[in-house]
Amino acid sequence: MERTPVFNTALSFTRGKTVKNRLLMAPMTTCSGFHDGSVPQDLVDYYGQRAQGLGAVIVECCFIDPLGPAFPGALGIDNDKKIPGLARVAKAIKQQGALAILQIYHGGRMVEPELIGGRTPVAPSAVAAAREGATIPRALNLGEIDALITKFGDAVNRAIKAGFDGVEIHGANTYLLQQFYSPHSNRRDDQWGGDREKRSRFPLAVLDIAHQIAERAEASDFIIGYRFSPEEIEKPGITFGDSLYLLEKLAERGLDYVHFSLGHWSRSSIVDLEDPTPLIARYRQAISSGSSLAQVPVIGVGGIVNRADVENALRAGYDLLAVGKACIVYPDWWQRLNAGENLSLEMASTQREALCIPEPLWHFSLVDAMIRDEQSAGKKFKAGIYHEKVEAEALKLNIDVQLDTDRITDIRLQPDSCLDVDFTQTFEQLRTRMLVANSPYVDAIAGATTQSEALKKAVSRALSTSSKHWAQDSGVDPASLENYDVIVIGSGGAGLAAAINAHDLGAKVVIVERMPTIGGNTLKASVGMNAAQTTYQRAKGIEDTKACFYEETLRGGKYKNNPDLLQQFVERAPAAIDWLAKQQIILSDITITGGMSIDRTHRPADRSAVGGFLISGLVKNLNQRNIDVLLDTKAESIEYQDDTVIGLTVVDEYGERRVLRAKAIIVATGGFSANTKMVEHYRPELTGFVTTNHKGATGSGITLLQALGAETVDMAEIQIHPTVEQRSAYLISESIRGGGAILVSQAGERFCNEMDTRDKVSAQIIALAEKSAWIIFDEQVRSQNKAADEYLAKGFVVQGKDAPDLAKKTGMDPDVLAHTLAIFNQAVRQQQDPQFGRTTALRHPLENAPFYAINIAPGVHHTMGGVAISTQAQVLDTQHRPITGLWAAGEVVGGIHGANRIGGNAVADIIIFGLLAGEQAANWVKTNI
Ligand code: ADP
Repeated sequence: MERTPVFNTALSFTRGKTVKNRLLMAPMTTCSGFHDGSVPQDLVDYYGQRAQGLGAVIVECCFIDPLGPAFPGALGIDNDKKIPGLARVAKAIKQQGALAILQIYHGGRMVEPELIGGRTPVAPSAVAAAREGATIPRALNLGEIDALITKFGDAVNRAIKAGFDGVEIHGANTYLLQQFYSPHSNRRDDQWGGDREKRSRFPLAVLDIAHQIAERAEASDFIIGYRFSPEEIEKPGITFGDSLYLLEKLAERGLDYVHFSLGHWSRSSIVDLEDPTPLIARYRQAISSGSSLAQVPVIGVGGIVNRADVENALRAGYDLLAVGKACIVYPDWWQRLNAGENLSLEMASTQREALCIPEPLWHFSLVDAMIRDEQSAGKKFKAGIYHEKVEAEALKLNIDVQLDTDRITDIRLQPDSCLDVDFTQTFEQLRTRMLVANSPYVDAIAGATTQSEALKKAVSRALSTSSKHWAQDSGVDPASLENYDVIVIGSGGAGLAAAINAHDLGAKVVIVERMPTIGGNTLKASVGMNAAQTTYQRAKGIEDTKACFYEETLRGGKYKNNPDLLQQFVERAPAAIDWLAKQQIILSDITITGGMSIDRTHRPADRSAVGGFLISGLVKNLNQRNIDVLLDTKAESIEYQDDTVIGLTVVDEYGERRVLRAKAIIVATGGFSANTKMVEHYRPELTGFVTTNHKGATGSGITLLQALGAETVDMAEIQIHPTVEQRSAYLISESIRGGGAILVSQAGERFCNEMDTRDKVSAQIIALAEKSAWIIFDEQVRSQNKAADEYLAKGFVVQGKDAPDLAKKTGMDPDVLAHTLAIFNQAVRQQQDPQFGRTTALRHPLENAPFYAINIAPGVHHTMGGVAISTQAQVLDTQHRPITGLWAAGEVVGGIHGANRIGGNAVADIIIFGLLAGEQAANWVKTNI
């Protein structure tokens, strides 16, 4: 290989293609793929713009198998449907004259179950990654390993079809290929594990199939590169010597390049800390000139921004350089480099769209840290030094935050602070991030999250104090900075929908949320959103009527529902589905829930849980509109004088009170399932029950409104869910029973019709002496239910190799359990259950080992009661008159669901009434103020 190349000279790869210069865009995850891993248009634009002048763009890694995505928003190449989207990316890059290379991978044990529909991740061996909370993966069997190799081949074939010039096989970042090579993650004793020769077989097999596919497609010059992480810190782990061994073997079979995976091109060993020699120097020294590897170009990455970086890195021994952050900040980086500009990694917070950066990438920690906050850059501060306390667990210290009129100039620990060494390191890293970003909103340091958050809060407190001082000195009323048209209390689905709609109708809106994160209990919603006569139903040929939806909801609610509110609910449901679609939240798949006779539960196309999908879509929309959310801020009282809303008193995380001014308030604080006192007050028999709800479901909105004379309805209507895992209060889905499972007592006997309504099944469990029960199912139920794998991964499930073994492990009498199963299996065969009258989900005999059991008991799930509202979502007083300036939406409201809430109606409720409240409040502000 030539040494010290000039960066604008071409290079020919070993297998034939030529790259016009030495500068490539590095593969960087953007987390911007659609939920199924396909490519959105903004990503096509992002890559197209950045390809200008560069030799090649290596497009971020694409998972080759549905169990492979290692992070949310990952791109996929796991089926042919992905080809057209990827083809648009390849075309956009090639139109700029650059080569288009695609990275392909499988995350293996780095995949979390929530990314793969609750299934257990797979890996060479059932050994979890060495990080806290890592899931124990399932070991791949021999057939699966062969299938995965084929899938890598399929991915190469799709990349060729999509028009890429090559692929980069991702053998780094502790993903599956590295896991096969690593003695930490690969403990197999068959042909795929053992010494390093055997551990290298999987990466070699993937390379072989890539060659075969390229040959078959008559694309023998199709670029095939390999990315590797040179060392592992784990013991045992991959050493630098091991990496060289593998790379040499790969090179012997034919490789166009190897790509170091490093944070900085000049990095030295992470294992031998005494040796400062950059790894690239050790690499060059170690490779003998006659070896195959010596002929393979080497890509370096990390810290390449300016011309000096480029020249130094090439001089150090790399042949090609992959450029990451600089390409994000400067879409025309190559031109700027050639023009000799001196570049710094900073972007103005207002520039996202101009720089063509997809929204999720903008919020990615590394990118976030480069954003210079324009809002705080607008000389909002009074220059000076502000003293703040940082308190987190045992840590108590003081800092000085030095501010100029437009930015943070320094953050120092006060000398008297007694420190532990670990925190000094955390502090230094965070300090750098905050100074670079000129913002406290940077990513926490891994492993020191609590301390990081405490420091971030202290700095943001200094900024807000200083900003107030500035306002006072400039004659600006500080209160005017917090003067709104509409305040929304609560950031669940109802609050977010209300805020977005009010904003779009011209109101200045803020959201107040008591918890540190957005989403409320809505995040836990699983099944979907009910609506009748929707475009999606029509497209699928489902005939439905609003009248039928009304009737069935009324019946489900035991005829206790408020008919006017229910009418509004049913009427507005299809428009709410369309509104979500307009905000790019598409609920196009349709299913059914208990109590409904027609498919009308709308959910994401990939059938994933609706809650997270909905909240992330709504948050995207909030960010596009710059709607503020005040987190860790509790609404304490509504300020109300002379029939007019004046504002809202809030308490922040430091216990400080202030009044936000507003003309209208929307209360969307959710239900009160997590307020045990309130639950016990209205339903004493529920004393001691766990709840499936999040901590913020305290019913505080009801109290806020009652203080102003609001009426409440149906407060004692509290839904309990029969099957809740008690240690975690995690809801075990009805789909397990629906899949064929049974419920048995500790004595090993069935005691009810498991498919009865939630209230009846719950009552039967409570009637047992032990007040809990076991859900029992077999391998067939497990294999057909995604949720079961999630429960296994979460450690809820007791597993027995056969029924007697399960009985032993759950403390039951094996003979009794055997008898129970025999009788139930007979009922299944006859499709008749004389014992308990179960008529549905008699799917198949429970006889396929292994057997599984989850211990459950009922838990408080939903509060149907709440404040009374008009059909226009106005809060009503005890005389049923609207209280001026106040609206409410979501679970805080009572009356819509009557005595029982149907699955799929909670999400419908929050969106329908959230939108209505937002619209009404904004219009009222416009016409009355
Ligand atoms: P819904 O489904 O009705 O939208 P959620 O439970 O999803 O309800 O969201 C309600 C949100 O309101 C939760 O995030 C909760 O933390 C928040 N909240 C509840 N009480 C208050 C309060 N007093 N001040 C601010 N936020 C609150």
